[in-house]
Amino acid sequence: PIPTIAGSVTFSNVGFAYEENNPILKGINFHVEAGERIALVGSTGSGKTTIINLISRFYDIQEGDIFVDGHDIQKVTLASLRQQMGIMMQDTFIFSGTIMDNIRYGKRDATEEEIIQAAKEVKAHDFIMKMQDGYQTEVNERGSRLSVGQRQLISFARALLAKPAILILDEATSSIDTKTEMALQEGLERLLEGRTSFVVAHRLATIKNADRIFYIRDGRIIEAGTHEEL
Ligand code: ATP
Repeated sequence: PIPTIAGSVTFSNVGFAYEENNPILKGINFHVEAGERIALVGSTGSGKTTIINLISRFYDIQEGDIFVDGHDIQKVTLASLRQQMGIMMQDTFIFSGTIMDNIRYGKRDATEEEIIQAAKEVKAHDFIMKMQDGYQTEVNERGSRLSVGQRQLISFARALLAKPAILILDEATSSIDTKTEMALQEGLERLLEGRTSFVVAHRLATIKNADRIFYIRDGRIIEAGTHEEL
C-alpha cells in the first residue's frame, strides 16, 4: 500500500498497445507536479483516453514506468492506488437507488450533510432540488432520469466526497444545456482546486484554465505548454 500522497505523476518512456504490432502510445515522458492541472487535447484516436487509462491502471503498461509520488504504480496494490484517485469517465456509473445513494457510492460512511455539502460545492445541488423527491429521487442503472451533464455533476460530487489527490476526467462531449454547462464549469473549478488533474478536455474553458496542455498526436505528446504558449 502507499500512504496518502501529494499527487505527483511521472511517465518514463511509456509505450502501450491494445493489440500486438499496433502501438498506440510511444515513448511518453512527463513529470506533473502535485496540484498541477493538465488538459489533454488532440484529435480522435490520438491516445488521450489511453493515457488516462494507464494512470488509473485500467491496463498494465507494457513499456516504461509510471510513478505516483515516486511509487511505481505496478508495485502497489490496485486498491491503494485507486484510493488516491477520483476517476470520472464519460458514462458515469449510476445504479438503481436514490440520488443520495448514488453520490455516497465509494464512501459508504458519508453522512447526509456531507453529501449535500459536496453536491452544493460542485453545483449539483440545484438540479437535484428541482427533481421530484430531491435527494431521495429514485434513478436507475441507465440513469434514465438524468441527462449526461447531470450525471457528470453526480460524478463530481462523488469525487469530492472521496477527497482524492489525483483527479482523472474524461469531459462529456454530448451536447449539454447552457445551465448544466455553467454548473459543470463552476463545479469543476471547485473540484480541481488543490488537486493534480488530468482532463481529456473538450471545452475551451477547461483548456484555458489548465496549467499545462499536452497536445497528443499519433500516440506522442508533440507539444506541452500553457494555452498562451501553444
Ligand atoms: P477520442 O477523442 O476519440 O476519445 P482518444 O485520443 O482518447 O480519442 P484513445 O481512446 O486513447 O484515443 O484511442 C487511441 C487508439 O487506440 C485508437 O486508434 C483506438 O481505436 C485504439 N483503442 C482504444 N481502445 C482500444 C481497445 N480497447 N482495444 C483496441 N484498440 C483500442
